[in-house]
Parts: sequence; C-alpha cells; structure tokens
Amino acid sequence: MEQRSVLIKEWVERHRDEAIQLAQQMVRIYSVNLPPNGSEAEHQHFIAGWLKEAGAEVDQYELSEVPSLTEHPAYMDGRNYEGRPNVLGAFRGSGGGKSLIFSSHADTVFEGTETWTHPPFEGVITDGKLYGRGAYDMKGGLAASMMAVKCIRELRLPIAGDIYVESVIDEEHGGANGTLAGRLRGPAADMAIIPEPTNLALYTAHLGGGIWKATFEGRSGISFAGEVLISALDASISFANLLKEFDAYRRYTIKAPAPWEESRTPEVSVMKILSGDTHREIMEKLPATGEVQFWIDSFPGLTGEEVLESFVKFYEANVYKYPDLQKCPPKITPLIRFLSGSKMDESGDGAVFLRTVQEAGELMTGSSSAPVGAPFACDGFMFNLYSPTPALVLGPAGGNAHAADEHLDLDSYVKLIGWYAEIIASWCGERKEA
Ligand SMILES: [Zn+2]
Repeated sequence: MEQRSVLIKEWVERHRDEAIQLAQQMVRIYSVNLPPNGSEAEHQHFIAGWLKEAGAEVDQYELSEVPSLTEHPAYMDGRNYEGRPNVLGAFRGSGGGKSLIFSSHADTVFEGTETWTHPPFEGVITDGKLYGRGAYDMKGGLAASMMAVKCIRELRLPIAGDIYVESVIDEEHGGANGTLAGRLRGPAADMAIIPEPTNLALYTAHLGGGIWKATFEGRSGISFAGEVLISALDASISFANLLKEFDAYRRYTIKAPAPWEESRTPEVSVMKILSGDTHREIMEKLPATGEVQFWIDSFPGLTGEEVLESFVKFYEANVYKYPDLQKCPPKITPLIRFLSGSKMDESGDGAVFLRTVQEAGELMTGSSSAPVGAPFACDGFMFNLYSPTPALVLGPAGGNAHAADEHLDLDSYVKLIGWYAEIIASWCGERKEA
C-alpha cells in the first residue's frame, strides 16, 4: 500500500472518536423539514462554523440571493426559504487540479409518530450504531465528507484542485431547490459525490419518482328511502387495488435499464388511504370523502407528466373492472415536485473519476464494488441534468431511513472517511494535464 494510504488510514483511526462525536453532534441539532417550512438554520450555522474552523472559505447564503433561481425550469414553487441558508465551504488547492464537491442535504424528515427505542434527537450510541433522525439520511455522510477534508489538510497532502463541502436545505419531500441554488450560484466542480446512504455501494444513477394524491367525493349518509349513496371509501379502496394492478403490470412490462438491469423493477406504492371520520370511534354513515396518496417511481428519462400519463392510460383501460370508481372517479393532483431520475456522465472525466473511486475503495475498504443504480430518488438530478457536474452517490451503511430508530453504522462511517480522503487525494491531488 502506498504511504499516503497508510497515513490516511492511521489518521482516520486516530480520529475515530472525534469523527463519531461530530456526527452525533449533528444528529442532536434538530433540522426537520416540514413543508413549506424547515428548521435547518441552526444546523447550517454549525456546519459553517465548523468548515471555517477547518480552513474553508465559507459562503452562507439565502436562496433569495441566487438570481434567476425562481425562474429556473426545475425550480418548484410553494416553499418558504426565509432564514434557511445554504452553506458552501471551499478548500482551495494549489491550482491547476481537478475539483470535487461533496453535496449533502441538511434537512431531515419528521421524526414520525412511531415509537423510537432511542430518542430521535439524542444521538444515542450503542452496538456500533449512532441512532437518530438524520444519522443515516444524511448527516453521517455529510460528517464523513467534513472529516475527510480535515484529514487531507492535517496530513498536508498536496492538493491541486479545489475541494467543496456543501450542505443544502430542503431536499426531502421533493424539495431539491437548495441543490439547484447551489448549482446556479456555483462554482461548478469537475465531479460531485452525494453522500446519501448507499451502504458503501457506488450508485452511478438514481431513480426518479413522484407522489400524487387522488381525492374522491361520494354521497354520504344512510339510505332510509332507497336514496343512492356513493361511498368514497369504496372508491378509495378500488383505486388502491387498481394501483396494485398497475404496479404488477409495470414490473412485468418495464425492463430496467443499466445500471439497474436485474437489480430493480419499478415500483408503485400506496402511501396513505384516508376516509371516514378519523376523529370519532364510530361511523354512522358512508364516508363522504376519500383520499389515496401514491408514489410512482421511474427510471431516468421520463418526466412527471409522462409517468402520470402512463398511469392514466392504464386506469382508463382497466376502470371497467371497478364499478365504484365509475360512480366516484378520482381527481388526481401532484403532492410534490416530480423528482427526475438521472445518471452520471460516465464518459471522459466521469470514467476516470469512477476508476479513481473504485481504486480508492479497494485500498480503504479492502473490497471492490461495481457501480449499480440507486433504489431511491434523490437530488442528484440537479447535478446530472442541470449542471456540468456529474454526480456519484456514495455513502455510509445503516438503516431505518425515514423510520423510527434510524441509525448510522459507525464502522462503515469511519471507513467512508478514509475512502473519501483517498478519493480527494487522488482526484484533486494531481495537476490536470495541459
Ligand atoms: Zn437523503
């Protein structure tokens, strides 16, 4: 093993406790996103302070300071961004090298109403796991990128290209405007790593998807004199069943493109069915209204309109089997922006970068990994579709993202710091050939 890799490994081992404390500290800072608002401010101030301390030039800015953001075709309206700054830390290289940005989101989803074994904002560590909302998605990845830069700087490894660590707001719930703002504000790095949780797998592409809401208006009451009533609940159930049918149909008919191949079929999920009076114990009439929320994912290349259109076509061809829906048809509206699927450009620099990442992974984790497609949607498309910077998704292991007892696997987290540091040293270390 090269001496540099040995130095990195030793540094990471020496700083294991510090690294774990950093992730723990970040988990303890509440940064829940509850659209249209979000509580990222304190977290962002913390990150800005830490980056400054570590030697970065820090750009902390509100989204309103980014000209033309709201006119961008990928911008989604309807969120309140006041007091929710993005943070970018720039660590300058000596010049002439390739640059790299680590782009993470600061917000987390709501802690939920399920029971946690370890409270969501205390950062409990047990059995090699750090528990808490955001530990896995994605403060662990952000903290790993911060520690990796610190490692490079403390070891005084030669760096020619600039290294950026970015913490954006509002990624959850189809946000991604924070990520878009970062691309528009620049600078554009040569490559990006998104430290979303991947269990140390390389994701060169990610899914897209959207959440829609179907609402139903029935005719409520009980029939005393033979009045014709229409149950919005029956319509909701039928609609959910039709969605399950659509799910099976897609799995059977849509062939997954590379790099998913056999690893993933597209999915449709029923997320919520709401009908009847939820405030009282007993219903004395047929429910007047119903609502079904559903997620449809897609491989790269489709727009939200196209995805919904394919469903509507399926619906029209199959609604004859569902008399309840014929009596009580749905009204469908999008609940979040459609997240496009995307794939990083693997030609030219992209190919060199991937090789760099794989070699670094072999050195630091002892195993090699072939790129695959992410089984989730994320903000990577803001890089791959709306900026010149291709984005690779690579992050730590853990579990229970968006659920109770979300946790970060600490061994993988520490390994990832070394991996990131090795990537930085290789990618940003050398001057570009003239
Ligand atoms: Zn995430």
